[in-house]
Amino acid sequence: MLLLDGKAVAAFHRERVESKIYDFQEQHIRPELAIVLAGQDKPSAMYASSMQRVARNVGLSAEIYRLSESVSERDIISMLEHFNEQKHIFGILMMMPLPHHLNASRIINCISPDKDVDGLTDTNIARLFSGRSGFVPCTPRAVMAILDYYHISLTGKDVVIIGRSNVVGKPLAQLCLNRNATVTHCHTRTHDLKAAARRADILISAAGAPGLITADMVKPGAVVIDVGINRVDGKTVGDVDFEGVSQVAGALTPVPGGVGAVTTMMVLENVVCRGAWTD
Ligand code: NAD
Repeated sequence: MLLLDGKAVAAFHRERVESKIYDFQEQHIRPELAIVLAGQDKPSAMYASSMQRVARNVGLSAEIYRLSESVSERDIISMLEHFNEQKHIFGILMMMPLPHHLNASRIINCISPDKDVDGLTDTNIARLFSGRSGFVPCTPRAVMAILDYYHISLTGKDVVIIGRSNVVGKPLAQLCLNRNATVTHCHTRTHDLKAAARRADILISAAGAPGLITADMVKPGAVVIDVGINRVDGKTVGDVDFEGVSQVAGALTPVPGGVGAVTTMMVLENVVCRGAWTD
């Protein structure tokens, strides 16, 4: 079985990001990633700090703009509008979830689509779904980056995706469709998940359900991509029973060290490489 090593994929993309940052430095341009953190959500704060650390490690300026739990929609929007105008700010990341009194959709859509490095604005979603260039959410991009790195073609393949969230499952399905895969989309209401999963040449689980994918759900030789990140008994695990599935699959991503390892680099690539836009 081939282990699909997210760290190797991330290292490959990191070189691309670093060389782009070097080019900018030569032109005395110092791109910044603006990370906006509103409220006290702990995982969001941790993600923001980790994003800042990884960005700074590759030489990209990254600032976290902290706003109080009670920030008004008007204040947050005027901050975003200010960032939209700032030439040195190349990308804006709005940490989710927002405090309950804020309208997330209205706020996200105030980010200029050209700085929406998470691909969450309606404009970028429409671009993705109509096959035009734009920013694509980073986790689905990370999945594609892993498949590309290992030269795993999607054309004509049966791809089964489990999970239909707006940030992972749905954009991922569209990316696979754009690459000529035959896509089956599964979710909590799917009647026979096992039968659907077993048809997959490429099985992608983005459910957030530890142990969901067992060996008997995998076609021998299939490529299995585990997007899930779950905490079980103090350990980080995916959706896939790694031990069992590794006996059947042709290729498999580990957790940790798989998709998650690539996702952060995709954010940075979106910030500095406009060429990273989807085809
Ligand atoms: P979500 O909760 O918004 O969506 C989960 C989806 O999975 C839903 O559509 C649901 O219908 C489906 N689902 C859940 N349990 C299921 C089951 N038992 N059977 C069939 N379908 C089921 O989650 P999300 O934001 O899309 O994230 C999904 C997972 O990916 C989570 O574990 C999350 O932590 C992880 N994630 C990983 C990365 C990364 O970089 N690797 C990034 C974002 C999210």
